[in-house]
Amino acid sequence: MKNKDKSQSKISLFFKKFYPTYTFDRVENIPYELLEENNIKLILIDMDNTLIDNKGRYSKELKKWVKEVKAKKIKVYIISNSISETMVKKVSKELGMRYYYKARKPALKGYKYIIDEMKVDKENILMVGDQLFTDICGGNRFGIKTILVKPINKKEIILSKIKRPFEKIILSHYYKKKGETKK
Ligand SMILES: [Mg+2]
Repeated sequence: MKNKDKSQSKISLFFKKFYPTYTFDRVENIPYELLEENNIKLILIDMDNTLIDNKGRYSKELKKWVKEVKAKKIKVYIISNSISETMVKKVSKELGMRYYYKARKPALKGYKYIIDEMKVDKENILMVGDQLFTDICGGNRFGIKTILVKPINKKEIILSKIKRPFEKIILSHYYKKKGETKK
């Protein structure tokens, strides 16, 4: 292998940690068929910018999607990096989900806590979130399938804003590999 090829494959290997299994625009666009095909029994879901916007609102479509998923006996569990419990508690109550906050994704402690509590095999768990470096990287490290959705809000806290250009670079590699040009 040439040196250039070697460094190229090192880059791909590094980027792979952040590649989602699937991508969708919104949570409510994730088809139930896909969940069934993958035998998903538990969905771990990020809250900020995935379920709710920056004012804590979620759409009617999202609520309907959650209801349908739960009717199919698939459990949905919020895993949030939020350090305040107030909003997580409110949203989880309204949508009828359990929650784990201060998760520090991509750290694994939250994922481990939930799998111990829910007793579901990793192959039947899916992580859904809007950030590559927390949600997707955490899910990949834990060894579960992942879905990246687009952030609901354009306006974000400064830390997320800083990370976005790096996400763009990785995503362009991801789509190139998948044979898609733009998304
Ligand atoms: Mg988020």
